[in-house]
Amino acid sequence: MKIQSVRGMNDVLPADSAAWQHVHAVAAQVFAAYGYGELRLPVVERTELFKRAVGEVTDVVEKEMYSFEDRGGEALSLRPELTAGVVRAGIEHGILFNQQQRVWCTGPVFRYERPQAGRYRQFHQLDVEAFGIATPDVDVEVIAIAAQLWKRLGLTGFELQINTLGMPGCRASHRAALIAYLEQHEAGLDEDAKRRLHSNPLRVLDSKVPGTQAIVEGAPKLLDYLDEPSLAHFAAVKAGLDALGIAYTVNPRLVRGLDYYTHTVFEWVTDQLGAQGTVCAGGRYDGLVEQLGGPKTTGVGFGLGIERLILLIGVQKVAITPNTPQVYVCRFGATAERQALQLAESLRDRFPALRLVLNAGGGGLKSQLKRADHSGARYALVIGDDEAAAGTVQVKSLRGEGEAYRCRQSELAAELGSRLAL
Ligand code: ATP
Ligand code: MG
Repeated sequence: MKIQSVRGMNDVLPADSAAWQHVHAVAAQVFAAYGYGELRLPVVERTELFKRAVGEVTDVVEKEMYSFEDRGGEALSLRPELTAGVVRAGIEHGILFNQQQRVWCTGPVFRYERPQAGRYRQFHQLDVEAFGIATPDVDVEVIAIAAQLWKRLGLTGFELQINTLGMPGCRASHRAALIAYLEQHEAGLDEDAKRRLHSNPLRVLDSKVPGTQAIVEGAPKLLDYLDEPSLAHFAAVKAGLDALGIAYTVNPRLVRGLDYYTHTVFEWVTDQLGAQGTVCAGGRYDGLVEQLGGPKTTGVGFGLGIERLILLIGVQKVAITPNTPQVYVCRFGATAERQALQLAESLRDRFPALRLVLNAGGGGLKSQLKRADHSGARYALVIGDDEAAAGTVQVKSLRGEGEAYRCRQSELAAELGSRLAL
């Protein structure tokens, strides 16, 4: 029996990896442009971390985690998101106490969901977090980072939805009103919603079940329960976005279900990816660090699904320079083979960005040129006995840019340098 990949876990083949490399390179550049430093973290953490950080009464922890016991009996999980690990590491290394930190993180995360377009069991996130800054200016900053990323990737058509959860204090009275309302409509709620009605009623607001959604339309709105400082924080976030010309809509149903979330929540949504339209989601979680046993430290950040970004790059036909070779070197005969070997290496020394394949495995002219064409290269260089003796090389366009011609080996670097703009 052939062994196949695990359902919902995908391979990225070389033909498709250019888009991934591009996203990573642009993201790393954008995050650095705002002074964020990269954290690299383990894929496996203690299960307890996610129970506390993501919350026990959530889809992720209740149904989606890959949890297991290791051989030493430790309860571990593949990370279902990145923020929990970032905070765990921040506390562990003492970099969150009484200071500001701007960090980012990326890598695979795992959730046992029903695989479909834009939804997988192993997927990848980009994560941005700012700690130790309580003011709304940094909420604006993290939203602006995502906007800057869209701009540099050439992506358009996002809608930014924002909302505020205010402070835990003003949420209590809303919670009571919400529970009373949901109890009145309990018969129409789905099973998850019924269960969360008392344990985590806010979470019912972002249900995806149509019947529950219809009930939620009429639910009491958190915005109507906010106190003055909460409203001021929200107003400042909106003013910052206005100043940057970042358009948004206020969506009162946008929530995070846990007590440690405060103030701003936001999502970048597109209508170009069907049901899986949320590309980036984030907000402020001023209580999380403390919840995980750290010092009282504020935090704000977002998580972004790279697969959805890649899908969008495809839908919007963003041009990505492929990583295919630019030059393929064909060689025949002992002297020519040695010369070509040295020439290829010296070209790579000279032009670090040059993508050059040296023929290996022998073959006649026809089969080597076929490989050259298949590689996607723009030029084939041909060195046989005649060229070796004369110290020349044949330059042959594989993409219809004129006739083949001979060039001195000593002048080849200059020739390729100008043709390929190296
Ligand atoms: P959704 O509502 O689509 O399930 P979520 O609220 O569970 O998303 P978050 O936990 O906020 O998602 O994760 C941040 C981002 O990661 C999402 O906005 C999305 O782009 C991406 N994402 C989440 N789950 C998946 C998945 N199973 N496959 C691919 N990308 C995902
Ligand atoms: Mg989900």
